Amino acid sequence: MAGGEETPEHPTHLVFDVGAATDRGAIRELNEDSYLAREPVFAVADGMGGHEAGEVASGLCIEALADEDMLVPGQPVTMLDVVLAVRRADWAIREATGSRAGTTLAAAFSAQDDEGAPAWIVANVGDSRVYVTDHGEFDQITVDHSEVWELVARGEITREEARVHPRRNVVTRALGTGYDADPDLWLLPAFPGQRLLVCSDGLTTELEDLEIASILRRNPTSQGAADALVAAALESGGRDNVTVVVVGVEAAVDDAAPVSEG
Ligand code: CA
Repeated sequence: MAGGEETPEHPTHLVFDVGAATDRGAIRELNEDSYLAREPVFAVADGMGGHEAGEVASGLCIEALADEDMLVPGQPVTMLDVVLAVRRADWAIREATGSRAGTTLAAAFSAQDDEGAPAWIVANVGDSRVYVTDHGEFDQITVDHSEVWELVARGEITREEARVHPRRNVVTRALGTGYDADPDLWLLPAFPGQRLLVCSDGLTTELEDLEIASILRRNPTSQGAADALVAAALESGGRDNVTVVVVGVEAAVDDAAPVSEG
């Protein structure tokens, strides 16, 4: 490959099994969710604004992340890349819609830590989520920027009450609209056996975390899991657009090691 003049100290790259699925649901006329599931970016954006403006906002957000500078296969994304891409998305939406439309963003980027070991950068704005599963554990990494999540954090309502709360759709941070468009960022180790789920709230308002975890367990391939999660959300009512991206870390390949047969 051209341009690879610097060799990292730990030339390990991960092999992913990627799946994605989206559906406008049973009630909404449009699908205002957008997603990107192409190494190294795994992202879901949930647009809001009505009259197709939400679709424009989430589409522009994904376009900003699909920028060719970000999508160099095998080249890890940096924290600065993520912050700049999110800022580009925010500007692009404000310019195109006059701040009348916005979008959430939840994303995981294949990256490296300071030592050069494989890592994930996870970013979110709004109430779309990133979860991680590993050896039977199932954890939400992101913290929703939403009114109901603030109530959960203060102990005033439970997670399950939040799922059916009348103001569950009110986000306190978004790209393209409002005053706060800063992403929260996480860096976590990436290793084989792990699976990440990136999803819009159309999944998490229909299904409890336990159901989501169990569907992931029953579907070993990422595409099978993505299809099954969307099908379950539709079966439960499909009251919103639903989008999921599933990324399984299959293997870590040491690029310096001799290639063996098989
Ligand atoms: Ca939604």
